[in-house]
Amino acid sequence: MSYFPVIGLEIHCQLATKTKMFCGCEIEVNTEPNKRVCPGCLGLPGSLPVPNKEAVNLAIKLGLALNCEIETMALWTRKNYFYPDLPAGYQVTQIGAIPAHDRPICKNGYIEIINANGEKKRIGITRIHMEEDAGKLVHDFSPESSHFDANRCGTPLCEIVTEPDIRSPEEAALVLQKIKQILEYTGASNANMENGNMRCDGNVSIRKSEDAPFGTRTEIKNLNSFSNLQKALEAEIALQAVSLDSGKELEQCTKRYDINQNKTIVIRSKEDKLDYKYFPDPNLLRLAIDKSLVDSIRENLPELPDARRSRFENDFGLNAYDAQVLTADKKISDWFDLASKNCKNPKLLANWVTSELMRELKEMENGISALKFKPEDLSQMVNLIENNTISGKIGKTVFAEMLATGKDPDTIIKEKGLVQITDTAEIEAIVRKAIEANQSQWQEFKSGKAQLRGFFVGQIMKNSGGKANPGVVNRLLDEMA
Ligand code: ADP
Ligand code: MG
Ligand code: ZN
Repeated sequence: MSYFPVIGLEIHCQLATKTKMFCGCEIEVNTEPNKRVCPGCLGLPGSLPVPNKEAVNLAIKLGLALNCEIETMALWTRKNYFYPDLPAGYQVTQIGAIPAHDRPICKNGYIEIINANGEKKRIGITRIHMEEDAGKLVHDFSPESSHFDANRCGTPLCEIVTEPDIRSPEEAALVLQKIKQILEYTGASNANMENGNMRCDGNVSIRKSEDAPFGTRTEIKNLNSFSNLQKALEAEIALQAVSLDSGKELEQCTKRYDINQNKTIVIRSKEDKLDYKYFPDPNLLRLAIDKSLVDSIRENLPELPDARRSRFENDFGLNAYDAQVLTADKKISDWFDLASKNCKNPKLLANWVTSELMRELKEMENGISALKFKPEDLSQMVNLIENNTISGKIGKTVFAEMLATGKDPDTIIKEKGLVQITDTAEIEAIVRKAIEANQSQWQEFKSGKAQLRGFFVGQIMKNSGGKANPGVVNRLLDEMA
């Protein structure tokens, strides 16, 4: 029997602030354990929290970019539980046990994705709430004991919850990509999935038809890449289908995904669901958010991915696919945007970036920030191709040299003598040599064997070290035949 999946995501990300959510401790990843701590983030009695204004501003910025309504009176609540990585015994969050206490900073938004059929689709954003992170338990430090590092305690997080509007695992991956992209464009988070500062939980259920009521869902925790999200959802859907086919009733539960077995595994059932005894934090006032603050953040929103994609399409004549590729990664997109400023042929520039440059970037550990040459250098090289100073083929040689040395294209061309030969007399001499060396082929070409044109052009280009202007070469061949 075939089933129709229903999926909703919960995405946690670290906000890109200098300091923690409720104290002044700096956030630093590569520091010694327990160096970035104070009575506040250690949850010592008597310490009082002060909300980080920058974190609130970033959450509002993110909310606006996700088309949300911004709360005017957000509320901080306590989620109470015992675990050794949580010294205070509670996490400050914005989830309420009753509707009056559930006042997250943003709600009722949406994003747009373009699904596999090329159709635009809206996915609702239920809410974004702010919270603080817990510390870290270290189990591989010693064989006898576990250790605790409190540096991460109190790091500001946002949780973005989507409506159950997603209809396939591929679509779920697209939604996660889009949200990551918006986090990067707004600067709300570094959204780095490898180092865990962005994580995703996938909720999924299946049903027999597209208009049947939703089925029982399971939640798969802590998926840390697009492909793991997609694979975990696929595995879970297959598992649920087998259960339903055999007549079993599904149970709501929380799972994890085992990559090696490509299987989802139950962590806890609905019956074990913890009661966190949420209540408003008595140490924190309600967070009053002025309309004027929201307006000023809205006015200063940076260009978002959808807007940039249309600008690339309209201003540079790029097709939707190329514009998509060139806006997917914010850093590459910014780089291309800079390069395009003085470029005579942005479309050709786009080709160089999407093919040659992106291929190289895949091999480079630190991505585009580690490139030795500047955006304007590539733009200059494209201009040299555009005005026939060099051929596209020589361009590849110049490009390789730019990559290796960081020198600008003019210098490379001068040093290596790569300027294209456009002088007809000079090219004619090379053409004649090629004819002399290949008399029989030349006779065949003259008597109409057009396929031999490629052979002659190849010989001539080779003998000129790739520098003969191909247009002139072809014209001479026609004239001489
Ligand atoms: P909880 O607070 O228990 O996590 P929520 O109502 O906040 O529950 O839902 C969490 C996520 O589950 C949301 O992303 C939502 O879209 C998704 N979801 C809710 N119901 C279903 C369902 N039947 N199938 C798939 N996903 C669902
Ligand atoms: Mg949840
Ligand atoms: Zn602190």
